[in-house]
Amino acid sequence: MGKRIPIVEKILSANDRLATQNRARLEQAGVVALNLMASPGAGKTSLIEHTIRGLHGELRLAVVDGDVATSIDADRAAAAGARAVQINTGGECHLDAVMLQGALNELPLEEIDLLIVENVGNLICPASFQLGTHKSVLIASVPEGDDKPYKYPGMYRGVEALVINKIDLLPYVSFDMDYFRRGVEVLNPGLVTFPLSCRTGEGLQAWLAWVRDLVAGVRAKRDA
Ligand code: MG
Ligand code: ZN
Repeated sequence: MGKRIPIVEKILSANDRLATQNRARLEQAGVVALNLMASPGAGKTSLIEHTIRGLHGELRLAVVDGDVATSIDADRAAAAGARAVQINTGGECHLDAVMLQGALNELPLEEIDLLIVENVGNLICPASFQLGTHKSVLIASVPEGDDKPYKYPGMYRGVEALVINKIDLLPYVSFDMDYFRRGVEVLNPGLVTFPLSCRTGEGLQAWLAWVRDLVAGVRAKRDA
């Protein structure tokens, strides 16, 4: 094990260098990018669909979809009205900066305002690989249980926004919101959080407002 650590560190630092290049490319083209992470089934693709529809006519959206094998999610993003690029990871359980670089090559970046990267459904290693996006967003969902911050601290520590999806199910499952939020607060104090339901639409406006403000803020900084 002792000998493996330096190799892992080398891989990560090479990844971080490429992530920095990806960010520079995005900045130059005026694209704001989100890295969306979650466990499988938390609602990444559903939130992306709502975001595409909710911002239609305001922002030009593109989606990069990381998937182990299929293009189902990219097809859904395209159907909702965004440009979509599929990355088949070939079994890898996370996206890395090289994969995003390849996807950026396939997009007309000058024609895009907001890029949403749907990472592979996994609460462990996606947290370790910087992509070059502006913000990392985690989607938790009520049926997954209220203990996830305690079980996956690395993921909860590393994100800049948290969506709690499927709040319409709160009356039917045992999910202690206070316990969940206490766990989050210890790991990531003051983390901006959006409880919402992609099924009923409750809470979606606050999420969309955050995305709008983020894009406006990055642009204002660039133009300053
Ligand atoms: Mg999906
Ligand atoms: Zn992985």
